[in-house]
Amino acid sequence: MSDQTSNPSPSPLTTRDTPEARAFRQALDVISEVEPRVSELIRAELADQRRFLKLIASENYASPAVLLAMGNWFSDKYAEGSIGHRFYAGCDNVDQLEALASQLACEVFGAEHAYVQPHSGIDANLVAYWAILAARVEAPALEAAEAKHVNDLTDEDWAALRRDLGNQRLVGMSLDAGGHLTHGFRPNISGKMFDQRSYGVDENGIVDYEEVRRLAHEFEPLIIVAGYSAYPRKVNFRVMREIADEVGAVLMIDMAHFAGLVAGGVFTGDFDPVRHGHVVTTTTHKSLRGPRGGIVLCTSEFSPFVDKGCPMVLGGPLVHVIAAKAVALAEARSEGFRTYARAVVDNATALAEGLQSRGGTLVSGGTENHLMLLDVTSFGLTGRQAESALREGGLTVNRNSIPHDPNGAWYTSGVRLGTPALTTLGMGPAEMDEVASIIVDVLNASEPTVTSSGAPSKARYTLDPEVAAECRNRAGALLDAFPLYPTVGVV
Ligand code: PLP
Repeated sequence: MSDQTSNPSPSPLTTRDTPEARAFRQALDVISEVEPRVSELIRAELADQRRFLKLIASENYASPAVLLAMGNWFSDKYAEGSIGHRFYAGCDNVDQLEALASQLACEVFGAEHAYVQPHSGIDANLVAYWAILAARVEAPALEAAEAKHVNDLTDEDWAALRRDLGNQRLVGMSLDAGGHLTHGFRPNISGKMFDQRSYGVDENGIVDYEEVRRLAHEFEPLIIVAGYSAYPRKVNFRVMREIADEVGAVLMIDMAHFAGLVAGGVFTGDFDPVRHGHVVTTTTHKSLRGPRGGIVLCTSEFSPFVDKGCPMVLGGPLVHVIAAKAVALAEARSEGFRTYARAVVDNATALAEGLQSRGGTLVSGGTENHLMLLDVTSFGLTGRQAESALREGGLTVNRNSIPHDPNGAWYTSGVRLGTPALTTLGMGPAEMDEVASIIVDVLNASEPTVTSSGAPSKARYTLDPEVAAECRNRAGALLDAFPLYPTVGVV
């Protein structure tokens, strides 16, 4: 499907007997022989994804090659350890595969070092945190303990080390400003293992770098985390690095959401995380369009520590997923992927303009990346109601808090909209305008139901059934013109 975006004239679902169609059909037949309910659910999921416009900013459609690369014998192999240092025999092919994936990651992102074992974005962040602690706190402390061998450390040495490791400070973006829960949010382990402070956005919804600077000088953190899950603007990583250097902090950048824009050459210069971060983490399944997983990139100072992710916080690597990461990274090197990345941002701009021209309010007044936050309070709805109403109208989105959200993190006041998936289908600005129109029509035709106490419900709503049916048809027309997995056909 990597050529889906480079194909200017989208084709309808093909019935041709392509290799992809045969591969998936035969795989499902094999699964069916053991447990038909599983293959039926896999087919149902494809049908669902073909029936709804996917606007979830953190999702995408991986190519058939990426999907197929996960179903193989590497799944059967234990390979704890790192390249050339395994705790199991028989890892020669794993070593070569992991080295290939790491080398591709370094090439694609221009990184000094890549560690491709993390099973997910959260795991990548955990590896990064422990590697930074090991490099900047544990290693110097061990050295200070007169280079004792680990086995010779006394109970007092260990107590001192635990105190040093435990008393570290972290500054990250707050969850309601668009940060991720692993960036120091209290209920997450990152908020428990670090003494943390968070920075937010100003009244215009933009990161206030002077506030970050003030906080950094006041709090003197070990780590400053940049990166986000729901922030619709670019972040100036050069300035973030300047701030980190002023206070001797490590700049860790979580590019989970926008890795595809980095790989595709859209985020360059001040906005290139790999150029400015000491440690950069990512997922591989969002805008990068790979399998579900994570990667840590870092400078050589941190590489020996990052490479101890397993067994530090990870179990045996998912080697079959590393195979798919390598395929996705190879795809990301192509000129077609650069075109794709630019189109993701152009489409986000078009979608934002389409919403605003129809009266929609966007946090920060627009977007500079692949996502935007639509404040749905002007439609009289909570995020939860908008999410459900939009699904009824043929679109899959997720509700999201907006800065200083009066409705809290469960009901929320916004929906987050992203263009990576629809861009993979080959849609462009004209289709984004139609998508914006469908969204606004659904939300205008929805209203909260009134509870027995007379107050508007925060969860229940009604949507005019005629509008819902019409919007579903319009969404279906777009999906017919830009079909998902055309070469897979009907399986
Ligand atoms: N970091 C950021 C910025 C994210 O947005 C996410 C997921 O949404 C993660 C980390 C966690 O990724 P995963 O779900 O793969 O653990």
